[in-house]
Amino acid sequence: MPLDDHGLELVRTRGTSAESLYENLTNGKLHPVFDIYCVPENKIDQSARIISGISPNKEPDRATQRILKDCEDIRNNLLKIEELYRSLLKQERSIIAQSAELANSYLPDEATIGNPLVVLLPTGRDGRVLDGVVYLDPRLLVELSLDELVRLIGHEFHHVGRGQIRPFSARAKPDFEAYVVSCMESLELEGIADLVSEITEFKAFNSFREKRRDIFEDYARYLEQFQEAVVKGYCDPAERSLSIKEISSAFYKEGQMHPVGHRMATEIQREMGKDELVACVGDPFEFLRRYQITAKRRGLFVFGERYISIMNSLEEKERSSE
Ligand SMILES: [Zn+2]
Repeated sequence: MPLDDHGLELVRTRGTSAESLYENLTNGKLHPVFDIYCVPENKIDQSARIISGISPNKEPDRATQRILKDCEDIRNNLLKIEELYRSLLKQERSIIAQSAELANSYLPDEATIGNPLVVLLPTGRDGRVLDGVVYLDPRLLVELSLDELVRLIGHEFHHVGRGQIRPFSARAKPDFEAYVVSCMESLELEGIADLVSEITEFKAFNSFREKRRDIFEDYARYLEQFQEAVVKGYCDPAERSLSIKEISSAFYKEGQMHPVGHRMATEIQREMGKDELVACVGDPFEFLRRYQITAKRRGLFVFGERYISIMNSLEEKERSSE
């Protein structure tokens, strides 16, 4: 978390012009030239547009509006954020080391997380990883306890390490089969990372804590909906766009795949132990296989034969194209 003497600075461009920054921000991807992002008032609009990738002469869309609101919120709490940030900087090494240790405890040997850059940026009270860089919303510094902050960074570091084994392909892919595989990846990568951080228990996330607990308990319902939509779309190409919509609402509308994946990972660990779970990191198909064995043994929700055979053929297809 670098911070220069000007205090919390906006987009530190390292000599890059706003125009070339903008060019780097295609497909909603952020370029790691943002070191820290707390916006001077006269730059809020421009910055929000840069982050959301919207051109300066267009009306701000919903994403931009949200970023604008986030920036204003951060702006209003800047003194508090800055104070905390400065005190955290003194323990920066220990925070990063603890987070790395946490992430490493759920990573296989071949995944190394090195020393990832942590950047403060309005991300809607969340953390994100893009191209091996961790982006954290600055408000979380104030809202999380130190222990929670360490665990949240641990969660993001786990994504960084996992990315060394298998780069995550975003679920925005138009191809139906790739979309289904990326859904399985979401379960594996967020499920295991949530086990690293136990994020559901964070005080700052009180508003959705109950909801996540309910989904964790009732996780089979979401898997059933997901399975049904996948089988339908796989068997009938005419149904695919509808199927994608159904999967999206069963899984992503309220971030359901987080607690669902968390539950699957938890059950695998309970039944087989941590090492067997860690062996699934970066392999969504193996995660599914181990979950399936676990579920049969423990009398939990088991995927149907049709779904499993679809996954097997998707895995085979992927292997043969490598
Ligand atoms: Zn995550």
